[in-house]
Amino acid sequence: MPTIDGERVIADLKRLAQFGRYKTGVHRPTYSPIDVESRHWLAEKLGEAGLDTVIDGIGNVIGRNPSARQRLLIGSHSETQPYGGWLDGSLGVIYGLELARAFAADASCAGLGIDVAAWADEEGHYGNYLGSRSFTDALPEEEIDQTRGRDDGTPLRQALERAGFAGRPPERVDPKRYIGYLEAHIEQGDTLDTSGLRIGVVETIVGIWNYRVSLIGEQNHAGTTRMVRRKDAGVSMVRLATRIHDRFPEIAGPRTVWTIGRMLLEPNAPSVVPGRAEMLVQFRDADIDRLAAFEGSRLSGTDRSRGRAARAAPASADAERGGSRRGGAVVPDAGGDDVHPEPPGHQSSLVGGQQGRGHRARRPGVRRCRREDPAFREVRFCQHGCPVRAGGRQRPGRRGGSRRPPRLDSACE
Ligand SMILES: [Zn+2]
Repeated sequence: MPTIDGERVIADLKRLAQFGRYKTGVHRPTYSPIDVESRHWLAEKLGEAGLDTVIDGIGNVIGRNPSARQRLLIGSHSETQPYGGWLDGSLGVIYGLELARAFAADASCAGLGIDVAAWADEEGHYGNYLGSRSFTDALPEEEIDQTRGRDDGTPLRQALERAGFAGRPPERVDPKRYIGYLEAHIEQGDTLDTSGLRIGVVETIVGIWNYRVSLIGEQNHAGTTRMVRRKDAGVSMVRLATRIHDRFPEIAGPRTVWTIGRMLLEPNAPSVVPGRAEMLVQFRDADIDRLAAFEGSRLSGTDRSRGRAARAAPASADAERGGSRRGGAVVPDAGGDDVHPEPPGHQSSLVGGQQGRGHRARRPGVRRCRREDPAFREVRFCQHGCPVRAGGRQRPGRRGGSRRPPRLDSACE
């Protein structure tokens, strides 16, 4: 059984966190000079682990085991959210690195190999899942031509040029090469934390349906328009919002969540009856029938006009290839802060069609992975995920079980 060196994992995570370190987190946007530097560092580390390593034309760092007969692909993204957490993405990449080393060092693993990937721009600084989509040949050249940075509008081509990646061939997945793809990720909700569990397996990525609800009334003077004559779009919006929050629980499942994240009034003036109101409604669930039920029963017929802004279908993790289902809790990906429209069918092309990605992109500008921040306290759990994935030297389970991991207060800088 391969032996995981937990101290080495933590040391590598801390080193990676130095690239763009900001307070207790990291600011490492895709293709920024510090992101490029970190990718070269990663490539070097993967090379030292005995992998044939390249950085490809979209910035993916891919390390391939040159000799194994059976291989597992392990990875995650290595850029971060703006001022994000230090474990988000990095955890999955460094686990891959450690497992590659551990398998190579163990004679009983002869013939078994780990390939490692650090995807580019899963966090959406430029596009949607650029790296993994490129790897699965689902990123058209025209899209690369048209994509621009979401913060400053820099053309993606220019960013790739500046990063030194332009002109490099894209690396593509060979599905026959792998028995599966695994991605370790820091928990983004609080299910494990509040349940006292150390590790869980994502079995489903929730679908996200977004609605832009417009209510059309009659703009009028707030002093002279009698109440009985008013068609106040603002009042209608507030009533609808209340109805949503009151009634959605009746059809919600245990993991359904919904959010009204934005409300607007027009003209938004103290002495004008609003003629138009708009709100953004979003709901998420792993069950597409339940999403449809939400849409059908609560939003339709309640307003004068409504539009569906964006939707992403739920996607199941590939149980056959998952390989890591034994032990631990099974939790759906609680999702994060994504209110960004995503192309329909996009996720399924990654999750169902190829190697089973287990991560979702997030909109830049939203701070997340808050649990990572308080003084790096979750660092001790990193040492649990890695052995579990290597084959189970430590059984996942509740905290306080037979073998507690060492506290790594030294990481709390
Ligand atoms: Zn992530």
